[in-house]
Amino acid sequence: MAKYVAAIDQGTTSTRCMIFDHAGRVVAVDQREHEQIFPKAGWVEHDPEEIWRNTRQVCAGALANGDLVEADIAAVGITNQRETTVVWDRKTGKPVYNAIVWQDTRTNRIIEQLGALGGGQERYRSVTGLPLATYFAGPKVKWILDNVEGARARAEAGDLLLGTMDTWVLWNATGGVDGGLHLTDVTNASRTLLMNLDTLSWDPEIAAEMGIPLSMLPEIRSSSEVYGQIRERGALAGLPIAGILGDQQAATFGQACLSPGEAKNTYGTGNFLLLNTGTEKVMSQNGLLTTVCYKIGDADTVYALEGSIAVTGSLVQWLRDNLGMIGSAAEIERLAGGVEDNGGAYFVPAFSGLFAPYWRSDARGAIVGLTRFVNKGHLARAVLEATAFQSREVIDAMNADSGVALTSLKVDGGMVVNELLMQFQADILGVPVIRPVVNETTALGAAYAAGLAVGFWGSEDDIRQNWAQDKQWDPELDAESREKHYKSWKKAVTKTFDWVD
Ligand code: ADP
Repeated sequence: MAKYVAAIDQGTTSTRCMIFDHAGRVVAVDQREHEQIFPKAGWVEHDPEEIWRNTRQVCAGALANGDLVEADIAAVGITNQRETTVVWDRKTGKPVYNAIVWQDTRTNRIIEQLGALGGGQERYRSVTGLPLATYFAGPKVKWILDNVEGARARAEAGDLLLGTMDTWVLWNATGGVDGGLHLTDVTNASRTLLMNLDTLSWDPEIAAEMGIPLSMLPEIRSSSEVYGQIRERGALAGLPIAGILGDQQAATFGQACLSPGEAKNTYGTGNFLLLNTGTEKVMSQNGLLTTVCYKIGDADTVYALEGSIAVTGSLVQWLRDNLGMIGSAAEIERLAGGVEDNGGAYFVPAFSGLFAPYWRSDARGAIVGLTRFVNKGHLARAVLEATAFQSREVIDAMNADSGVALTSLKVDGGMVVNELLMQFQADILGVPVIRPVVNETTALGAAYAAGLAVGFWGSEDDIRQNWAQDKQWDPELDAESREKHYKSWKKAVTKTFDWVD
């Protein structure tokens, strides 16, 4: 009897393979970072072939680290950085261009042109649940077809396929040029600006407006079903791939936010707050996205409201890599802990414009409130506070949209080891912040989706039972100071607008 489930987590900065037991505990892991390619200001790319190589290596590595063999594994789930898009040749398996990453803003012009057809940013909202923004996959495909020589003709001849990273990994794992499956799940499809949220099928009119031939699009499936077997000769060969969830939906699932009204906030490269709204699709009036939360086999589709923030953990990386102010991400806590407060400085990291709740692609980053007094510690603190303030803005929007105030916040992701940040988050929200024992909720969620499909876990109740709290931070700041601080942040945000046209 197989005792474990594996998850491939193809993230923004790295690819991991994690193996979980029935209690949802990690038994083995392997991870590899991939190159972040920045060809121009605002452009971010990944090499899809490097990512596929890394995927194979981490699958083998996780098995070896856990001293496991394929027979120990019941099923494999895939989770992925969402919106990041690859276009490749179905006959050679070669990408025609690098993957264009979700943070990339090169499609700004395309977005404006599409919006000018009528409706502006709201043009596709009623069909897709999304504002027209550089973030989403569809316009990235249009850019590739418009700009890579010969790509449009090859696409129209039926030679090219497109996919988000789940689809790229699945296609390669299930045989690639030799019969690879060209599929995606509803959560990833809901991030393309091409899927109808009610019918869960591609919208031919939107695809036509973006000049994307329907033959390039993968088939849309549920998030939990046996899609096929791994055909590759390497690690995990022969095992069923039985779950696919975009990373934030996977984290929502892994955090057991399985009932309407339950929410989680993930602190990674960016921050993503998702609120389960059940089988009701709630359209946002306050700058949030409406998206598919998950669909388990034939069960009804569950929707979510989402607040996406482009830059949080990546601002810590920027401090490390671009300024050299810290040697590692973890060092920021000591630096920030050396001062009492932010010294009056506010750092708005609008590097990719601003996502929720503003959706301003014209915004660029700013540090405001500087005086001769401000030192490295204050800046480090302002960097951490930016994450908490941006999360507060998203939660305010969520409360306004849902009409219900959040009473506590479940958190996960790479930044939640930072105690100073977690305390400040509780202070600036005025509600407790709760971290689970298993912080690897993204991979865990994908494992759950796969394990449910093959009967390794019996029902969603098993997932609820596995969730356990590690630590809680309660608010300590008085309401008056909290709101004063937040008001200054809001003012700082307004200084970032209108930087690019
Ligand atoms: P992703 O899945 O988006 O690749 P992770 O969840 O692995 O990201 O989180 C990585 C992010 O967390 C990085 O951007 C890093 O800067 C940030 N990070 C890691 N450790 C800390 C820390 N101790 N304090 C603040 N930020 C941190």
